[in-house]
Amino acid sequence: MNDVKKSFGATQALKGVNLDIYANEVHAIVGSNGAGKSTLMKMLAGLYKPDEGTIAFENEDITGLSPLETQRKGIQVVHQVLNIVPSLSVFENILLAMPPVKAGFLNWKSGIKKVEETLRLIGFPLDLKASAGLLSVSEQQFIILARAIVNETKVLVLDEPTARLSLEETNKLFNIIRKMQKKGTTIIYISHRIEEIYAISDRISVFRDGLCVKTENTGQFKENDLVNSMLGKNIDVFFPKKKVTIGGELLRVQGLSYQDKIFGIDLHVNQGEIVTMVGAVGCGQTEVLNCIYGIINADSGEITLNGEKLKRNHSPREAIQQGIALIPEDRASEGMIADYDIKNNITAINMRQIAKYHVLSDSLEGKLASQMVDRLNVIPADINYTMSALSGGNQQKVVVGKWMTESYKLYLMDEVTAGVDIGAKAEIYKLMGDIAAGGSSILLSSGDIEEALGISDRIIVLFKGKIFKELIPRETTKDKLLTYIMGGMANN
Ligand code: ADP
Ligand code: MG
Repeated sequence: MNDVKKSFGATQALKGVNLDIYANEVHAIVGSNGAGKSTLMKMLAGLYKPDEGTIAFENEDITGLSPLETQRKGIQVVHQVLNIVPSLSVFENILLAMPPVKAGFLNWKSGIKKVEETLRLIGFPLDLKASAGLLSVSEQQFIILARAIVNETKVLVLDEPTARLSLEETNKLFNIIRKMQKKGTTIIYISHRIEEIYAISDRISVFRDGLCVKTENTGQFKENDLVNSMLGKNIDVFFPKKKVTIGGELLRVQGLSYQDKIFGIDLHVNQGEIVTMVGAVGCGQTEVLNCIYGIINADSGEITLNGEKLKRNHSPREAIQQGIALIPEDRASEGMIADYDIKNNITAINMRQIAKYHVLSDSLEGKLASQMVDRLNVIPADINYTMSALSGGNQQKVVVGKWMTESYKLYLMDEVTAGVDIGAKAEIYKLMGDIAAGGSSILLSSGDIEEALGISDRIIVLFKGKIFKELIPRETTKDKLLTYIMGGMANN
């Protein structure tokens, strides 16, 4: 790809990208949200035409070919968005892109043979007749993968394929990638998960701000070099835990139980303290947070804030009045209003402050929102931008930031940095440090061990709805913490 440029209106998404992909390598592309990775891959797939520059494949200029023409050349792109047709069967979905046609008719026999071979390669048993819409998101992801490789694939592009996959499914995907590489396929692998990139790639290219800023052999690319070239600056304090004097007890939870999810949870959080709950998925962390906030009502147990018992079966509204905020895990469905602009998202919950004089003040609304956008470095820094048009990392900054325009005593945060790139993560951590420094407290649930160790004062390991272990980060190590998370499994 030579000096490829592409603009969308005023946004210059690609500013002249030069990128060489070698035959048969696994080439990883990393970069913050909005760096231009997906746009370049859509260009390779023929979905967009470059404004300037050329794309060559096997010594042939393929700039501007249509999607079908690029597919015929053996270039297959699995895009970030899953384009499953829910009403069609698994079989039909797999053959959707290039159905086997003979004399103008679908050749089902050769279709079935190809699909069966592909599923064998993938090692993922699927009922071919099942309707694709009824399958889980990860199964759908594997159908899309099957669609990409059912025909002869010379180049396979995977655009953030693991965003919806569990660790086990990610390993499965890596096995498929290795098998395909052995068969001679070239793979372009896009992700912002650094561990993954080191595990699977031969070379790494870093994208920043519409440019490919660095390409290096994976073995020679130091992790902090990679992070710094991604961000274009050095982050010296990735976990900016400020010196905070931990105060008296703020929250106490006693004997909290809910259905078959959590059993007799006892924990406390002090003022200015950050406490993180870790554990395998579904060990009850989310239920603890949701009970405290009042989204679900515990079957038994007591919640005390500042020495005062919360009402039994309290509502989220009452929790907010008591000074408790919750930043939920699924920002798309709970944390934000996608069709609203940034300003309205930030101020939606802050009517008290805005309607100070019983008049909803548009200028105050704008002022609060602008302050937050600056403080969080939201890109673009335009409070009239629609939420759904922002990248995931920037959406999450707004979701976290909107709670910060008023100060709460206790912030409950559920997987607050999931799916967020490393630059946005650093900014969210900074915000959390500020919250604690301001005397408020955070009870966090996190599947990210580095994050738990970096940001918290105390870590609580949960296993199957019970507290298994409590740890102080500076007195433990990553390996030990992992062993405790696993150890829970061994002991139960
Ligand atoms: P990445 O995949 O690296 O996260 P993208 O390629 O999706 O980044 O986006 C690069 C930039 O181009 C972003 O600023 C994004 O908002 C913008 N962009 C991408 N597609 C469109 C589009 N169809 N219309 C307008 N802007 C777009
Ligand atoms: Mg993308």
